[in-house]
Amino acid sequence: MTGAIGGPGFAGEWHGGAITSYATCVLAPNAGPQTLDGTNTWVVRAPGATGVTVIDPGPNDIAHWQQVAREVEQRGARIERILLTHGHLDHSAGARLFAEAAGCTVQALDPAHQYGSEGLVGGDVIDESGVEIHVVATPGHTSDSLSFYLPQDGSILTGDTVLGRGTTVVAYPDGTLVEYLDSLHRLRELIADSHVSTILPGHGPTLNQPDEVIDYYLAHRHERLDQVRAAVSELDVAELPVEDVAQRVVESVYADVPRAVWPLALLSVRAQLEYLATRR
Ligand SMILES: [Zn+2]
Repeated sequence: MTGAIGGPGFAGEWHGGAITSYATCVLAPNAGPQTLDGTNTWVVRAPGATGVTVIDPGPNDIAHWQQVAREVEQRGARIERILLTHGHLDHSAGARLFAEAAGCTVQALDPAHQYGSEGLVGGDVIDESGVEIHVVATPGHTSDSLSFYLPQDGSILTGDTVLGRGTTVVAYPDGTLVEYLDSLHRLRELIADSHVSTILPGHGPTLNQPDEVIDYYLAHRHERLDQVRAAVSELDVAELPVEDVAQRVVESVYADVPRAVWPLALLSVRAQLEYLATRR
């Protein structure tokens, strides 16, 4: 689940492929209103290396798995590990099948999604087969969201924390807005300090102005908060239960986004109402 809700027009078709010198995207066949073009499964490999890391295997889909396996075999390489940016099923459902087929482990923050491994937390560095992968904790979309920074490549894989188009959902109550804003600031700092040039997102096309994108996300979040605050004071909702308040706010603030993503907008509004309630 991504919940791309409105947002900037990072237009253009997206089919994946070889994107940077370290990262290749195999696009999963699960496009939809909540998954944009489908899940980006990332194959990360140092030039010439025989060991690769697969990030976000995506849905449990044999044909997708075969496409990833072909991509790896064509380079005379093999899969050494699978990493998950978070546990949402459109990223993780195929992880076990992929790991068993490849004879490798699955590393994730949430123990429920780990397979034959010791897990993964922010601050970890994986340094094998010529690739350094720095794990960055970026909770907010979900509590278990991680990003993966590739210093040699000048790129960062952001999962659903930053998407290739639109903006993401804060999947309340697991995700919270205060954590999400912190994570955006953490990414903004990393991008500036480390000269990251490319965001490799969990859905949609890659982004080549990472700092501008994060600034947009931050501005958008604050704009939405202002809109939600205004809607709550305009609508006569003081006596209503919070679920009904959230529904009325979605109808007012998210009137311009397709109804297919309203259920996700509802989660983001719940997150925003909670954020505003704790800051009165
Ligand atoms: Zn997600």
